[in-house]
Amino acid sequence: MKRFDFDVAIIGGGSGGYAAARTAAAAGLKTVVIEGGAEVGGLCILRGCMPTKALLYAAEVLHLAKNPQPWGIRPGKVSYDFAKVMARKNLMIKDFADFRAKQLNDGRFKFIRANATFLDANKLELKSAIGNRQSAITARHFVIATGSRVSPSPLPQLNDAGFITSDDAVALKRLPKSLIVLGGGAIACEFAQFFARFGVKVTLIQRSGHILKEFDADAGMEIEKVFRREGIRVFTGTKLLDSKSNGKLKTVSFEHEGKTVSVSAEEILFALGRVPNTAPLGLENAGVKTENGRVVTNGKMQTSAPHIYAAGDCTGPHEIVHIAIQQGETAAHNIAQPKSPRRMDYRLLISVVFTEPQVAFVGLTEKEAAARGIKFLAASYPFNDHGKSLIMEAKDGFVKLLANPKTGEILGGSCVGPAGGELIHEIVTAMAKRMTVHELAATPHYHPTLAEIWTYPAEELAGQIQPV
Ligand SMILES: Cc1cc2nc3c(=O)[nH]c(=O)nc-3n(C[C@H](O)[C@H](O)[C@H](O)COP(=O)(O)OP(=O)(O)OC[C@H]3O[C@@H](n4cnc5c(N)ncnc54)[C@H](O)[C@@H]3O)c2cc1C
Repeated sequence: MKRFDFDVAIIGGGSGGYAAARTAAAAGLKTVVIEGGAEVGGLCILRGCMPTKALLYAAEVLHLAKNPQPWGIRPGKVSYDFAKVMARKNLMIKDFADFRAKQLNDGRFKFIRANATFLDANKLELKSAIGNRQSAITARHFVIATGSRVSPSPLPQLNDAGFITSDDAVALKRLPKSLIVLGGGAIACEFAQFFARFGVKVTLIQRSGHILKEFDADAGMEIEKVFRREGIRVFTGTKLLDSKSNGKLKTVSFEHEGKTVSVSAEEILFALGRVPNTAPLGLENAGVKTENGRVVTNGKMQTSAPHIYAAGDCTGPHEIVHIAIQQGETAAHNIAQPKSPRRMDYRLLISVVFTEPQVAFVGLTEKEAAARGIKFLAASYPFNDHGKSLIMEAKDGFVKLLANPKTGEILGGSCVGPAGGELIHEIVTAMAKRMTVHELAATPHYHPTLAEIWTYPAEELAGQIQPV
């Protein structure tokens, strides 16, 4: 039998790679993690979930401090120290990254700082970032977990005008006076509100008919309403035409409602998506197929080369950290236990956008159910008619439930509203246990809480559905 240096080599030490490594090591496999980044921690910790949410929370505190009048409180002079806002965020990120570095170096598996490329189906070339050293290792199995990078610009003129990405935005030393945000997805919307609440004049330009296009239109339009109220200019249904810079201001021209519109600002934030980080991996040397750069995997997270698996943003189909983790665990489990394989199941897909109000869904949206031809009944309830949200003056948004019209099983939930990212987890739990709207409506809810709002659409649907 052929001998290899390792049972499993994991390429990438981010969320997906670390999850694969701890699972493989716990199963007794001789494991190595190879991490090529200049810093250790992965996207979520260093430049993704954690820094953005730390900054958004600061923006929320500032917004509340500036707008306390509804509760009879006078605002006084509210100001901020942007350097301190960033310093607090940096300190937290350093703590999280240090902890992850400790986990990666605690001896359960070998941790190598190098960039890996496949030389053949069982061999990796390692190029050390420090000292430019080169070496090679062999392994029986691999997990590719190399993440994603900002997508290339669709308009060459944008490269000439120059722009910042989310990586730059979380590391800014000073705020621009004005900003054009290109894109209308989660990252674009979160940054648009963050900058606007810190006094930056923000214009958001989105190609689709409404922002947050993976959500139902009612959710996207609710956020557009809030953004406009907070002074953000929102253009939807656009087509980018041109971009230029005069040294002081950057201009983006686009088609909107049959006319050419030009907007100028001090800076452009490019938030038009990310692409899998797979190009430099030499995947062709290992027989691993890709589609538009994405590593093709089956439900077991196995690639076209059966001994090579993938997890996280490099394979998708969702760029969400808990899914990267679940995929990493699934890949490692299937390597260790091939006779009792596990498969990924996206029935409980969750998506959260940390704007205020927060936007979240689990399972099916109306859009997705219609596209898949799944029959459903839906009922919504607004936060402007609910006790706890009225106390909080959090009147924007609604909750919505989708149920099987015959059995009443909950098929999906959406929430645009205060703490929507937290509230959605009640429906995640209910769906995990395949609860019906009747069971949810009969579950006790404390009063007055935000959570009790779910009982209203549940009761409405329960009244319409007589389970057989
Ligand atoms: C601004 C922003 C905000 C986000 N907010 C959220 C959020 O709130 N919630 C959420 O769920 N998700 C969020 N995400 C998405 C989330 O961060 C990612 O889905 C997740 O971090 C992906 O993990 P990963 O392990 O696939 O990749 P990564 O964490 O990117 O890890 C990949 C690692 O592989 C290394 N690598 C790459 N190539 C090689 C190579 N050839 N050799 C060795 N090492 C290599 C990289 O250095 C990197 O460390 C956000 C993303 C962004 C950009």
